[in-house]
Amino acid sequence: MVYNFGAGPAMLPAAVVERIRDEFPDWQNGLSPLEISHRSAAFTEVTERAEENLRQLLQIPKNYQVLFVQGGSRAQFSMVPMNIAGQTDRAAYAITGIWSQIAYEDASQFVNIDICCSNADSEALSIPNEKTWYLNPEHNYLHYTDNETINGLEFARPPKTKATLVSDMSSSLLSKKIDVAKHGVIYACSQKNIGPAGLTIVIIDQSILKKAQPGTPLLYDYHSYIDSRSLINTPPTFIWYIIDLVLQWIVDEGGIAVIEKRNNKKAQKLYNFIDRSDFYNNRIDPQYRSRMNVPFQLADPQLDKTFLELAEKRGLMQLKGHRTVGGMRASLYNAMPEEGVDELIGFMSDFAAERG
Ligand SMILES: *Cc1c(COP(=O)(O)O)cnc(C)c1O
Repeated sequence: MVYNFGAGPAMLPAAVVERIRDEFPDWQNGLSPLEISHRSAAFTEVTERAEENLRQLLQIPKNYQVLFVQGGSRAQFSMVPMNIAGQTDRAAYAITGIWSQIAYEDASQFVNIDICCSNADSEALSIPNEKTWYLNPEHNYLHYTDNETINGLEFARPPKTKATLVSDMSSSLLSKKIDVAKHGVIYACSQKNIGPAGLTIVIIDQSILKKAQPGTPLLYDYHSYIDSRSLINTPPTFIWYIIDLVLQWIVDEGGIAVIEKRNNKKAQKLYNFIDRSDFYNNRIDPQYRSRMNVPFQLADPQLDKTFLELAEKRGLMQLKGHRTVGGMRASLYNAMPEEGVDELIGFMSDFAAERG
């Protein structure tokens, strides 16, 4: 048995991979899901079911549009300001790690930005107390990164603000209950909890949409996706087909409440083990520890390479931390079963006993 702890592209549910294997050569009338037109009736069923399940799982209100867009979450860093702000407007960005920093840099071409808080001088180990944030009634929107995938830092709840909330939920969407109505825009690329890489889900309150900024390319204009039901051009049909299977899997598992409970339990187990150990360390403020991405360091970084080699021999894959943070990172997305976490803890325990 192999468990993939990679941060993205990440592990898919085993049941989904098996279904893809079974349907791969003959999905509809002898055609593979790779070969189906995005305009066909069979594919329309896929897109309609995917949207319906997503709406039901996340309780998305009727006045919100659900879009499927290419270009990853990174494209949204620009698309959001191009579509909901004017060039003379002001927006606030909460800098809580590497992804929010990049989101701010990309967006600053399209809107004036105030950094409302930053944890850069504290190595991104915690989220600054909201009472200290710089917020201004002029802010057109406030952008925050719900879960900092690289740093392993997650908001416990959305920030309180009168401004329109925009959230990058790339690595947390579908992992827990969320209040969509508190947000103007939520976006998430597919390669963490939703499927393979290729499509980004954008959930947007139609009433905050503006006319796109002058010069916005057609493919960066949300109206193009609304008007065409996200079929402005040929989408990655195979990825959409897999996303539909992943959403069906979440429904079959019992929905978001069941998934969330499971995720909390998995993360708690691993953090408890790390906290009790003298050999492993996680430095993130416990209030804001990510349930999805658990970075940890070994007492002796010289052992990192051996740790990774032996882990792979035990079928525990892709545990290497991001190059900017170092050490290890275990990503525990929806598809990771609790047994995977048990295996990891067993291995970490053996390794510390032998080398610690
Ligand atoms: C993965 C990730 C991104 C980048 O997504 P791409 O699809 O590679 O553009 C952005 N933000 C967060 C929080 C992520 O985890």
